[in-house]
Amino acid sequence: MMKSYRKELWFETPTRRAYLNITPLVSEAVRDSGVAEGLALVNAMHITSSVFINDDEPGLHADFEKWLEGLAPEKPHSRYAHNTGEDNGDAHLKRQVMGREAVVAVTGGKLDLGPWEQIFYGEFDGKRRKRVLVKIIGE
Ligand code: ZN
Repeated sequence: MMKSYRKELWFETPTRRAYLNITPLVSEAVRDSGVAEGLALVNAMHITSSVFINDDEPGLHADFEKWLEGLAPEKPHSRYAHNTGEDNGDAHLKRQVMGREAVVAVTGGKLDLGPWEQIFYGEFDGKRRKRVLVKIIGE
């Protein structure tokens, strides 16, 4: 019998940009779902934030910040055609590069991640309440 489980994770970062390791929250959702064999989809529900998998290492996160600011600097706001009445043109582009979602196998009732893989919420236009969808299917 296939099971299906849905949960929203809410975040409000105090800074405009942030990376949050949400692996423990997704692991908890897998546990609550009762799914032993299946898939977990984790996606940002906003077009200015991301979900991605990488290393939980502060130097790497500083590198992401520098790299993304090089590609799509926040300022000047006037550089983006999108910024008519808002200032988050850079955040849309950063989200596009960092991706919308991660899909992780569930094996033996646990996230089947590689040795250094962690799931992150990447915020590019924070200081407001935003959410991530976790959908787990399997048996
Ligand atoms: Zn916008």
